Parts: sequence; C-alpha cells; structure tokens
Amino acid sequence: MDQFTAAQNLPGPAAKGILFEEPSIFETGSPGRTAYSLPALDVPEVEMETLLPADELRGPLEHFPELTELDVVRHFTRLSQWNFSIDTNFYPLGSCTMKYNPKINEDMARLPGFSQHHPYAPEKFSQGSLQLMHELQGYLEEISGMDVVTLQPAAGAQGEMTGMLLIHAWHDEQGKPRRKVLMPDSAHGTNPATSHLAGYEVVQVPSDAEGQIDIQKLESLMDEDTAALMLTNPNTLGMFEKNIMKISEIVHAKGGLVYCDGANLNAVMGICKLGDMGVDVMHFNLHKTFSTPHGGGGPGAGPVGVKKFLAPYLPVPVIQKSDAGFKMNYDWPKTIGKVKSFFGNFGMFVRAHTYIRSLGRDGVRRAAEGAALNANYIRASLKDDYHLPYSSPTLHECVFSDKFQIKHGVKTLDVAKALIDRGFHPPTVYFPLIVKGALMIEPTESESKETLDQFIDAMKSVAREAEQNPDRLHKAPVLSKVTRVDEARAARKPILVWKP
Ligand SMILES: *Cc1c(COP(=O)(O)O)cnc(C)c1O
Repeated sequence: MDQFTAAQNLPGPAAKGILFEEPSIFETGSPGRTAYSLPALDVPEVEMETLLPADELRGPLEHFPELTELDVVRHFTRLSQWNFSIDTNFYPLGSCTMKYNPKINEDMARLPGFSQHHPYAPEKFSQGSLQLMHELQGYLEEISGMDVVTLQPAAGAQGEMTGMLLIHAWHDEQGKPRRKVLMPDSAHGTNPATSHLAGYEVVQVPSDAEGQIDIQKLESLMDEDTAALMLTNPNTLGMFEKNIMKISEIVHAKGGLVYCDGANLNAVMGICKLGDMGVDVMHFNLHKTFSTPHGGGGPGAGPVGVKKFLAPYLPVPVIQKSDAGFKMNYDWPKTIGKVKSFFGNFGMFVRAHTYIRSLGRDGVRRAAEGAALNANYIRASLKDDYHLPYSSPTLHECVFSDKFQIKHGVKTLDVAKALIDRGFHPPTVYFPLIVKGALMIEPTESESKETLDQFIDAMKSVAREAEQNPDRLHKAPVLSKVTRVDEARAARKPILVWKP
C-alpha cells in the first residue's frame, strides 16, 4: 500500500472527501479574459498620457492574471475553505481556549448603532456604547472579584504590560521603586516579556513535583526589591494553585503585589473569584474566555481588573456612570496614559457583553464546569496511551508528554503532524516548557462527546502507529496541501512573493 492509500484508511474527518488542488492565481487564466465588460465608448478615446503626469502612471503589468469573475470567486472561495477554523472543526489548542464564537455575538456587533458609531462622537451621542462598556466592566468585576476594570488593552499580552505599568506606578508613588518580578517556571512567554518591557528583571520560581509553585523557594526568593509575583491561576498545566492564599500572603508581607494572568479564567469563571485570593491586578482574554474571535479573526481584547488602590493609575479615559449619564473621564491625574487608541477594540466588547448576557450567571458557571469535564474526559481516556507528567486531575486542559512514544523514535512533533492526516488541528506542543515533549490539549466546553471520542480515537490510532510503523509518522502529514515542512526554514525564510 502506498502512503496515500494507507493514510486514507485512517479514522477521522479528513480521511475521506474531495481534495482540490488549487494552483496559484498567476498560473491560471488566459490573455484577454476579463471579469467584467463595459459598454462601448460613446465619447472619443483619449490617451491616458495626455491627462495624467508621467509619475502618476504605472508601467505595464507583467504576468497579471486575466480571469473571469467565476474563476476569481472559485479561486478565493476554495482558498478560504482551506482555512482551519472553529467554525469548521475541533481546535484543541491548549492555553488558547478555542471555544465556539456564537453567531448572536456577531449579529449584535454588526448592529449599525454599534458598528457605525464614530469614536470621536461626543459623549451625549455615545450613551449606548458607553453603557455597554460600563456594564461589561461591571460583569468582569463581578466574575473576577476585582474592584475596577479597564477595557482598553488590545490583547492579553498588552493587558499584562498595562498591569505591570500600574504596579510600577504604584511602587514609584510609595517612593520605593523595585527591580524584580517573580514568576513560576511554567509561565507563558508573554509574562517575562511584558515584565521585562516594563523595566523589571525576571526571576524564576521553580515548580514542585506536583506542578505547583514551590512555596519554600518562593519564600526564599521574595524580598523587598521584588515588585510583584506574576502567576497564572489555574496554571499552564491546567491546575489550580492550591496554595494561592499562602502565596499572596508571602508576597504581600514583603510589600509586593500579586499579578494574575487570567488567560485560564475559563476553568473557574462563576465558580471562584481571583480577587478573593489576594490578587491585586489581573487581565482577562475576551478572545479566549468570552468567545470573541482570535488572531486573524480578531482583533482580541485584554481588559485589566485592579483593586481600588490601583485605580488612580488606570489608562484614560475611565468609563464611568454619573447622574448625567455615562461619561469618558480624562481627569485622572495619576494615569499611566493611554495604552490603545480610543477605548480599545470596541467590537469585542459587544461580543463579550452578548456572550455573558446570553449565558447568564448560571450559564457562565456551567461553561467552566463543562470545560473541566471535557478536559478530564480526554485525560482519563488517553492516560494509558500517552504519558501524564503529573498525576492529579486538572481543570480545563490536560498536558501529556511523548515519553511513551519516544521509545519508538516518535516525538511530540510527529504526533501533532499525524493528527493533521486524521482531520484534527494539532494541540499546543512543547509548552509549558517544564514538561519535556509536552502535548497540551484544551477541548473547551463547546465540544460534544462524539467529537471528543473521534479525537480520542485519532490520538489512540497515532499511539498505535508509533509502535507499529514509526517511520510513516516521521513523514506525516501526507494528506494535507502542504506536507512536512522544515519548521525552522518555513518560519525564517517564508516564501511570500510569487516569482514567475
Ligand atoms: C494566551 C495567553 C497569554 C497572552 O494573551 P494574548 O491575548 O495572546 O496576548 C498570556 N498568558 C497565557 C497563560 C495565555 O494562555
């Protein structure tokens, strides 16, 4: 059996169906073919050169594709169908909370009153938009237990940066600027990056054998030159930091603040509040927890919640409610300034507001419970096929390693690529860094048991193939448009320009 035929016998949605080859648009068409024809001229023809200055005219276009409208529509529609998206398939990317983006969010964001509203419109004509922002701030305050929320940052990383600048401003005002920020070795890469950008030296706190922050190490590292501890709770292994109260106490006792990376809020929203656990600042990822689109489908939004004592430093304008209505308050003397143009990515606020309102208090909690149930179902179903580096159950995501497969010469990368042939987007790989050969899976609450079972079958079939036919896995994927690429070269020297 050749590779292609063998691959077609694999379980999963990609194993069947039509695979179109699509040439580049420059390779198609035929000279003189057009997409549109205009009526014959009823005025004398004039040479363009007599009307426009020479430097406004372009030279001849070589290799310009000449196609009909249908050719163009088919070309781009087919290309768009090659996109992998949450609307087409399961997306188990750990740490990213790739949940379904409900269409009602999109309907609300497209209401002309929101989508056509100009950011320079005066306050009195902006009451509806300001009310929506004020309400969303309130919902996030309620969910997190923080006192005040700003919606301005454009993503999680910018939220972290904003939080670090707030912490910096507060320490400066105490008259004792500090130099260091502590963070666990399981931290997301944006954590050290933003702390460093805010002017801090980053000091790692090791995790213990259970994947939790090592309390003794934290105690010995925490000192009066440390501005903050930046932790993620639940952490990037999907586990709740059981000692969070003790951890906050240790940091506060030395005059430091606690920053919580709230990217994993999907595991605990509606169940417990980070603000009750000693957290002073945190960010939210609306494009993760609150179902607004990610990445290319974005933009995202990374609101920041703070305790009252940090409110004087928030970015302006601060959106407030007064007797006269909702207002944009720029009179905020200690502000760190603006972090994003206007008010942030407003369209995302409409989507997140709709999501929270349509779920309601109970629905928000049930979403978190469903996320944890789905992750634990995958964890329990695959524990004999893939090595689990930590034994305790997790919340909304689970982390495996390639320890069982490596005996056969099969690595995490091979497992990820083999999943593509089985019709699944690979999970997050090689993160968190503290797990060697990590495979991090976050199913979210959106997925049905049938989808999870298909994914589990595909993972089991990869594990079997790793034992029986490891060489084939090294070549995967073979069914995709682009097969195995040299990852380093593809990232460093991408071919972005078409050359005839
Ligand atoms: C996604 C993520 C971030 C960064 O958020 P962006 O919105 O992608 O900038 C930070 N920390 C963790 C744990 C994350 O999962």
